[in-house]
Amino acid sequence: MFEKVVIANRGEIALRILRACRELGLKTVAIHSTADRDLKHVRLADESVCIGPPDPASSYLSIPAVLSAAEVTDAGAIHPGYGFLSENADFAERVEQSGFVFIGPRPETIRQIGDKVSAIRLMQAAGVPCVPGSDGPLGDDGDESLRIAEKIGYPVIIKASGGGGGRGMRVVHSAATLLDSISLTRAEAGASFGNDMVYLEKFLQNPRHVEIQVCADEHGNAVHLGERDCSMQRRHQKVIEESPAPGIPPQMRKDLGERCVNACHQINYRGAGTFEFLYEDGGFYFIEMNTRLQVEHTVTEMVTGTDLVKAQLLVAAGEPLPFTQEDIELRGHAIECRINAEDARTFMPSPGRIQRYHPPGGPGVRLDSHIYQDYTVSPYYDSMIGKLITWGEDRAAAIARMRTALGEMVVDGINTNIPLHQELMADAAFVEGGQSIHYLEKKLAESQ
Ligand code: ADP
Repeated sequence: MFEKVVIANRGEIALRILRACRELGLKTVAIHSTADRDLKHVRLADESVCIGPPDPASSYLSIPAVLSAAEVTDAGAIHPGYGFLSENADFAERVEQSGFVFIGPRPETIRQIGDKVSAIRLMQAAGVPCVPGSDGPLGDDGDESLRIAEKIGYPVIIKASGGGGGRGMRVVHSAATLLDSISLTRAEAGASFGNDMVYLEKFLQNPRHVEIQVCADEHGNAVHLGERDCSMQRRHQKVIEESPAPGIPPQMRKDLGERCVNACHQINYRGAGTFEFLYEDGGFYFIEMNTRLQVEHTVTEMVTGTDLVKAQLLVAAGEPLPFTQEDIELRGHAIECRINAEDARTFMPSPGRIQRYHPPGGPGVRLDSHIYQDYTVSPYYDSMIGKLITWGEDRAAAIARMRTALGEMVVDGINTNIPLHQELMADAAFVEGGQSIHYLEKKLAESQ
């Protein structure tokens, strides 16, 4: 096994990875920008290397900077966390070519799955249910595109094969605007992603976002760890996540999970990954796969009693998965609230110094956060300052705990979205469960 891991990330996830490394007896190297010298994991790591200025392009996203840090510290492996370089196939390839272990899937898997048209093809071949669509890229023949859209039925959504982060998509409601919209999306995709391939899908009007967590090793084992519901979103950003998803019958979970496991075998998947689905009227429709650890992995850990980051490290070291499918049983219910440094009403980012800090606690309460009193939230990066997770015997108990925990949590000196979470934990529709991905935006629009 490698003995030293470079943590190529920042904030709460860097700290999460550091903790898992420490429990496995692995040494850690924190790499950070000049703006991040005071991050908690930088203080706790065995070694730290400043890799550049605050601008992510010159630090956290700089492949040469990350690789040099691994070299000078004589590290054995690199954990990319989420965001930044985590789904960059070229990075994973360079890591391996430089003789380090990449803690994630094989570079070619990241490349295949990162291209949505190719990912959908692989999923269809593995029996994973997909959204009805063009089953491949659209060509230059406008009449053909019109025929395909007619067959799928309007509204349709045009998506860029190389798109990501909620960009490169356009909804079309009638044939009149289809061809112009395709040209526009194609041009934008070419400019933004260097790949102008686009395809069509049926636009589902009122779906929920439900995703399946998987983990696979290099010994032919692949396991699914149930699902998460991440429908509470604003501008395609998840705000609250939970596991299990309300109202999913066990047989349906088992069936979908097995299909995802089958897909893992077919694509020779390695490490942790997530199959994202839209769920509407009792049907699941694959939209994309994330080839990395996700922010919301915590709720899965809480209901399955696993440690997904440790599993990632073990698999990367060539060990078998530390659990089998039979070991995985969903117990109780877990909810995660993403705590952001932003105004709870206007969503304006709110960087600055934390003057007073009281974290919540008690049974079933988990707080994954890098903040501390006097820590200054940087304006350069994502505004998430932590994740508050509660577990309960059932969903109502998890919500009750979340209310109590939110009420205990004090972060003074900056604005946070804690009041929004408090409002949602008291919201009748949220408490009922099973709302669609549009619910939060609608609620916010109504309260303006
Ligand atoms: P990205 O890689 O940019 O995150 P996704 O394919 O995951 O793109 O889609 C992002 C979001 O766009 C989804 O969570 C959903 O809200 C919406 N979306 C994508 N495809 C569809 C569809 N076929 N019907 C309805 N909404 C969709």
